Amino acid sequence: MSSEMAMSKLPLKRALVAGGAGFIGSHLVDRLLAQGAEVVVLDNLQTGREANLRHLAADPQLTMIEADICDPLPASLKGQFSHIFNAACAASPPHYQADPEHTMLTNVLGTRNLLRRAEGDGARFLQTSTSEVYGDPEVHPQTEDYRGWVSCTGPRACYDEGKRAAETLAFDFARLGRADVRVVRIFNTYGPRMDPDDGRVVSNVICQALTGDPITVYGDGSQTRSFCYVDDLVEGILRLMAYDGQQPGPVNLGNPIELTVCDLIDRVVALTGSKSPLVTRPLPEDDPRRRKPDISLAQRLLRWEPKVSLQKGLEATTAYFAEELHSGQSRFNKLLSPALAAAE
Ligand code: UDP
Repeated sequence: MSSEMAMSKLPLKRALVAGGAGFIGSHLVDRLLAQGAEVVVLDNLQTGREANLRHLAADPQLTMIEADICDPLPASLKGQFSHIFNAACAASPPHYQADPEHTMLTNVLGTRNLLRRAEGDGARFLQTSTSEVYGDPEVHPQTEDYRGWVSCTGPRACYDEGKRAAETLAFDFARLGRADVRVVRIFNTYGPRMDPDDGRVVSNVICQALTGDPITVYGDGSQTRSFCYVDDLVEGILRLMAYDGQQPGPVNLGNPIELTVCDLIDRVVALTGSKSPLVTRPLPEDDPRRRKPDISLAQRLLRWEPKVSLQKGLEATTAYFAEELHSGQSRFNKLLSPALAAAE
């Protein structure tokens, strides 16, 4: 099933992308415009960057509105949308922990505002949820029916519990017939347009390798993640949004190839020829030990699986970061992660 074919039943005319100036959101905007949709981006530019949409500045099909989804949506947007994508939330631990109250409200109030807009417009609504709903999982790999092991009081809870509550809202709207919803659970994603100052492992390690700064290993580096290239992820998001079968539950999207943090560092060092030393930092509180998606549902429902190899993905991402660092725009390393800051 191609996303274009499936879209034909619910024509994609006008899409709202909350968080459309972000890393994942901006790639989604590219694809929607390429499909001929009109796109309105709502972004508060907390972690989104105008630079992510600069190449589209002259596109008459795109409108960018600087606004926070926690606030009432601009009245001018009423009745406009066939599809609403919610990709608005800081997603990197140091960023979402910087203002935890706002992170929680973005997911609860912000998601409610968008769901109500979807209800009013008769739009299909897609929520970008996260593997963080599984917390520090006891089930491996994680299937959608695993209910997770999440702290509701720890430093990650504002994001994890916020995203869980957003799923609850979305499925309540669906159950009550108020909106047609889709929920993707996104596992670690990487690629061009990540912010060098994002504070996540892929951006930190590549930028550190390129600048010769020490590469920061949190804990002993034996914890695992599974990294999906952004193009693959966006394809999966579009396929789920296009899916016309019975109301689906949440769907995992991610690359099931599991790596330790040390494995990832080895790959980046081999690719860049970096001479950066390794430096150990404390493992952040509640850092999940293992994470790997079971994607059999996405394979069955959407005929989706990742296509881009880690090697190709890391090459493209490294080339992008090299250009970013060269342009001197980045504040790289000015924003330290809590673990890094604690050790300084
Ligand atoms: N991590 C690391 N060095 C860094 C940044 C992160 O070792 O410079 C670790 C982090 O503790 C975690 C893993 O890499 O175990 C992935 O972290 P990231 O923040 O990228 O994503 P998340 O924890 O949200 O999956």
